[in-house]
Amino acid sequence: MVVMRAVVKRYGSVTALDGFDLRVPRGSIYGVIGPNGAGKTTAFSILAGYVRADAGAAFIDGRPVGAPGRGGVGALPQGAQLPAHERLGDMLGFYARLCGFSRSGAADEVARVLRLTELAGRERARIRELSHGMIRRAELANALLGSPELVLLDEPTAGLDPQKASHVRELIAAHRGRTTVLISSHNLDEIEKLCDHAVILRRGRQVYGGPVDQLTSARAELRFDLGGPPGDAAAQVPGVVDLEWDAASGTLWVRFDANVRSAESVIGDMLRRLLDADVSIRGVSRGRGLEASVLDLL
Ligand code: ATP
Repeated sequence: MVVMRAVVKRYGSVTALDGFDLRVPRGSIYGVIGPNGAGKTTAFSILAGYVRADAGAAFIDGRPVGAPGRGGVGALPQGAQLPAHERLGDMLGFYARLCGFSRSGAADEVARVLRLTELAGRERARIRELSHGMIRRAELANALLGSPELVLLDEPTAGLDPQKASHVRELIAAHRGRTTVLISSHNLDEIEKLCDHAVILRRGRQVYGGPVDQLTSARAELRFDLGGPPGDAAAQVPGVVDLEWDAASGTLWVRFDANVRSAESVIGDMLRRLLDADVSIRGVSRGRGLEASVLDLL
């Protein structure tokens, strides 16, 4: 759905993107990860058509960015300034008309996106009367107008209370398979839960691009948090290629050959053996977690 090839973007002497590559599968929820200043917002701005790349190529659905075509791009940018004196409903109605809706179609579309973002009933409120979290959701409503085929969400849950953040995550997850969604977030837990694929940027370049479960080793590594040493209980489980016991944290790392056995069957075997040996089990998880994997790469 999105291809960026060797994209370079400079702001004066600062190189924000330095030969950046990206391939986003259609219908995926794709995470964009990287430290402050890595170039995430710049990549979004190029895809949204806000800024032009100095070199390289960027395509959305096979068309060069900015070329006219069906579908379009919805964006929730960082630091967008909505018109403070406008009423929410009027502002969204105006943008819906720009998306090509008729007057009555625009009213229905605005009602739809306000329902989705839990802002129904607020259409008469002026933007300046809305809280930070409401404004963020108003921006999300704007990004979803017209059901674009690609939605760019820059820190979509920043500043939202836990309940609203969770609602926004559910809303994003509901688009899986239907819409391609790019999410930039420093909340790696959020990326791990929501995204099937991710790119990691460092200094304007890609250091990883691919499935999240490959990045976290969730396909071939298990973590057992135990109340005591596993002894021989974990030895000789079919498919297991390596065991590592960290006594200080009570963590048993189990690496297995994913071509031979599924994670579920290895977990079942391991749990039976540990319980038979009276080892207390505090938790089981797949992979190393996104945070640890990202910190390793950066
Ligand atoms: P953050 O996580 O802090 O939002 P980011 O990964 O989104 O960071 P960008 O905002 O893309 O990073 O910035 C990349 C680099 O480009 C930074 O060094 C930043 O200072 C610089 N930069 C971004 N926008 C501009 C601009 N309009 N003018 C000058 N420099 C800019």
